[in-house]
Parts: sequence; C-alpha cells; structure tokens
Amino acid sequence: MLSDFISLIFPAKCSGCQSLLIQSEKAICTSCFIEINEYAIKNYDPKFSFGRKKIDGFFSLYFLIKNSILQKIIHNIKFKNDRLSAHVLGVELGKRLKELNYNDKIDCIVPVPISKKKLRSRTFNQSEEIAKGLKTVVNVPIVTNWLKRKNGIKSQTLSNRFQRSINVQEEYYLNKKKTLKNKRLLILDDVVTTGATLQSCLEALDSNKNKSIYVVALAATKKD
Ligand SMILES: [Zn+2]
Repeated sequence: MLSDFISLIFPAKCSGCQSLLIQSEKAICTSCFIEINEYAIKNYDPKFSFGRKKIDGFFSLYFLIKNSILQKIIHNIKFKNDRLSAHVLGVELGKRLKELNYNDKIDCIVPVPISKKKLRSRTFNQSEEIAKGLKTVVNVPIVTNWLKRKNGIKSQTLSNRFQRSINVQEEYYLNKKKTLKNKRLLILDDVVTTGATLQSCLEALDSNKNKSIYVVALAATKKD
C-alpha cells in the first residue's frame, strides 16, 4: 500500500534509460534488459587469469562495453545509491550460475569487501548487494565478516598503473577470529577490469585452507 502511494508521487524510473517503469518491471526496463543481454557471455573465457593465482573457475555474466547501458547502470549502483539494480542484476547472475550447476559447487558466497571509509560514503557494498540477489536463486550463505579490506588511500593517489597494482596487493586480509576452512568459496565482484583486485583477494585467501575457489562477476572487460 505504502509502496503504491510512494510510486504515485515518485514513479520509478529505469536505471538505464530513465523511462518510467511499468508495474512488472523492477529497476531496469525490458528494452534495456534486451540490450544488456546482447553482451551476455555465452562461453567461459579460459584466458582469464588473476596474476599467477590459480582458481577453479571464473564466470562473468556480461561483457562491459564502454558507454553501454550496462556501464551506466553499474555507475548508478556505485555512485548513485542504486541498490535495487544491484539486487536485480544479482538475481540474473544467480539464474545463470544455477544453469551452470554452481549450486552444487559452492558452500558460501564471499563478496569482495570495500573499506569502512568507502562504505560510509557509498552507504552499501555493491558486491554484497549483488550477492543478496544471487542468494535468492543459489541459496548458500553470504559471508561478509571474514575477508576484509584495509582503509588504504595509497592506491587511489598513485597514477602509475603498475604502482597501483602493487599497492592493491595486501589491501585485503582475513579476520582471524572467523574460521572458514575447507570450504568451497564463491568470490563475487561487481566488475573485473585488470583483475588486480581479485588477485589481491586471492593472495589474502592463500593463508587459509580452501577446498576450491570460484570467482564470478557481473561484468568483465573484454580481453583482446
Ligand atoms: Zn531502460
């Protein structure tokens, strides 16, 4: 009732094209979804690596194309507090992972964390929000109190990309009070570009005994 009333005063708009949504649409309109799905990744890309870190599998739902609708939505998720789109795209990711039988391969979802500082300015962690959508389809627990990110500002102030990738390492650590050994992990990130973030996460996970590690993302930039 209240949500009907609110939507009368503030009609919901599509995160991708700003057109008014009809009742059956949530966060993203049908025509934007059609466009986004043109960039859906059909085949697993075996060329993807995270430095020298070996993982058991990598999957990204979409290719991230410059100036695309998807890029705009991801921008809204990151910088304009668009939680709902993160959730909706998380559900889409979950559907694909279910088709790929991921629910038989994993014990828990570990969203890539953001620092407390960033959390304060953004109000939510986008990967965690995607994970919540994913969980509605692939029902395994989400673990957020284990893999942590330090409050580093170094990496953002350096312009040199190589320097940045060095500094991004060691930015993640494991909360030793929480034990999560012998688990099959699903590490979830929103966007994979250079892979430096994930490489750094995987390094932090080295100190732990994991049965297997899968990495999934909403979108990944296309490698030439
Ligand atoms: Zn739209």
